[in-house]
Amino acid sequence: MIEKIHEKVWKLSFKFFGSLCYLVKLTNNYLLIDTSSSRNKEELLSDLKSIQVPLNKVTVLLTHLHWDHVGCLTPFKKIYASKIEIEDFNKDPSAALAAYSREELEEVKKSNLLPFSKLDKEIKKEIQVIIAPGHSRGSVAFYMPKQQVLFPGDVVFSEDGSVIGRYDLPTSVPEKVQESIDKVLKLKFKVFCPGH
Ligand SMILES: [Zn+2]
Repeated sequence: MIEKIHEKVWKLSFKFFGSLCYLVKLTNNYLLIDTSSSRNKEELLSDLKSIQVPLNKVTVLLTHLHWDHVGCLTPFKKIYASKIEIEDFNKDPSAALAAYSREELEEVKKSNLLPFSKLDKEIKKEIQVIIAPGHSRGSVAFYMPKQQVLFPGDVVFSEDGSVIGRYDLPTSVPEKVQESIDKVLKLKFKVFCPGH
């Protein structure tokens, strides 16, 4: 299901378990924040089609590489994740994905993930990458300062910080969790777009 939640932002939610995804309209591009699990791949692509989004105009930004966020990467050319998440995947894919199906592993393996430092200038002007380790070593949040829209990924699920992401997964860093939640919730936001 796709629903418009802000002038420039759509929320995508799915039939099966997987992350929520968000589509952001920029002047010349679209951003897709996370891609849910592979079981939701067809639904995600048909949602994008329903509002006439050309796939070649979509840049994917991943909050982290857990299996339930990386299920639909191969239809896209430009995919970005944090340097640490890419390193962790190259070192030990099963730890970086947490739990996964073969489909999700293949989606990441077949894609050329780039670090955020390589993002286009236009995109960097609109959206900030906030380093927020804890849930996973390389987790990030995204923040659109002009629009005051916050995408905390799996770091924190509620605006008051009372519901947070797990920190007992293979690449979690429990001692960093609170610091990251505080950092993310300190940002001034009007629209809150959590990963689940
Ligand atoms: Zn996660």
